Amino acid sequence: MDVKTTIRSIPGWPIEGVVFRDLTTLMQNPQAYGQSCDILYERYKDQDVGKIVGIDARGFVFGAVLAYKLGIGFVPVRKKGKLPWNTIEETYTLEYGEDTLEIHEDAVEKGEKVVIVDDLIATGGTIGATVKLVKKLGADIVECAFVVELPELKGREQIQGCNVFAITEFD
Ligand code: IMP
Repeated sequence: MDVKTTIRSIPGWPIEGVVFRDLTTLMQNPQAYGQSCDILYERYKDQDVGKIVGIDARGFVFGAVLAYKLGIGFVPVRKKGKLPWNTIEETYTLEYGEDTLEIHEDAVEKGEKVVIVDDLIATGGTIGATVKLVKKLGADIVECAFVVELPELKGREQIQGCNVFAITEFD
């Protein structure tokens, strides 16, 4: 099963000139969804990871399954105003505007090994803000993992010094 073939591409959405990579078609395919989660599990199963940090909202879809398979905890990074306890926040620029992400201040331990998971890295604004949040809390980032990378948008440059892994990529 090539998971890339299950991703739907939508030209002109949400704005003219953009080709949106729609992962709902991957997620609704049990083989492709299962295989994506298995690839991540095989990659991190022997790395002594303490928690998975998933990014709102599709990072939860892959990150929560990965945490369950690894038998470790899951931490949500959420859009501003959604988390009920004390948070720290980072504002960032994304492909289609600006946003603020938050994490609970007690979500990870100092020195704890974490993997950050999102569905897709485009310009890197979202993962850049998340890396800043996790570093502020003192955790040790093993890798930032994605289902899809859009290498032309050079998102990796926002998280220099961090390991990056993507299951597949689109030009
Ligand atoms: P970035 O901040 O520009 O790297 O954008 C990545 C974030 O926006 C991720 O959380 C993605 O869920 C979302 N995103 C941006 N472009 C796409 C796309 O083509 N398909 C799915 N999600 C996207």
